[in-house]
Amino acid sequence: MIVELDPLEETLPQLPFEPAPSLASRLAAFHRAGNARQFCWDQYLRFERIAHGDRDELTRFSAFVGADLEELARWTPSMVSKNRFTLNGEMISSFRSRRIRVRLCPACAEEDMAAAPDLPPDAAVGIRAFALVESIRTCPVHGLGLVQVADRTTFGDHGDDYAIAVDEALEDIDDLRSRSVQRPITRFEAYLLGRLGVVAMKVVHSERD
Ligand SMILES: [Zn+2]
Repeated sequence: MIVELDPLEETLPQLPFEPAPSLASRLAAFHRAGNARQFCWDQYLRFERIAHGDRDELTRFSAFVGADLEELARWTPSMVSKNRFTLNGEMISSFRSRRIRVRLCPACAEEDMAAAPDLPPDAAVGIRAFALVESIRTCPVHGLGLVQVADRTTFGDHGDDYAIAVDEALEDIDDLRSRSVQRPITRFEAYLLGRLGVVAMKVVHSERD
């Protein structure tokens, strides 16, 4: 059954490189809906399908939350088979992705919080799609090492529901900072970021380039 949804009145903007499940998860936190599955289900949307990049569900989700469909689809890993995903058209196998052992750039997290001071941190801070790719270990915007902030335990039954998984780590941003190091992106990371179409406003180039 396809139900026509009225657009969400109080929504949040999609963040740079943000996958759809991250946006859904933040909206669930913002609306205190408990979790993203419940938040979506209440609107006749399937969170699993959104998280797996299902085009029809992304179309309905984008209309509901007022996000640009192409931008949403670009940064949402799309499942092509059980162990295979594509990101912006590039194949990434799930064992090489970081959908469970999620990583954040401390500076991106701080910028997200500074841009939305009225939001609780779990509703303000989004996941970056490039951080889901195993071999990318450095934020290309800030030249900072990505820090793992979640694992299977923190997700529990809430796979892909990032706001739940990263909430605790956001309580101590200084600790997050202390676990990261400043470093240039490597040639291999630059190659992967290029393939994925990550074009940052200010990309920190490797000194070896
Ligand atoms: Zn960053």
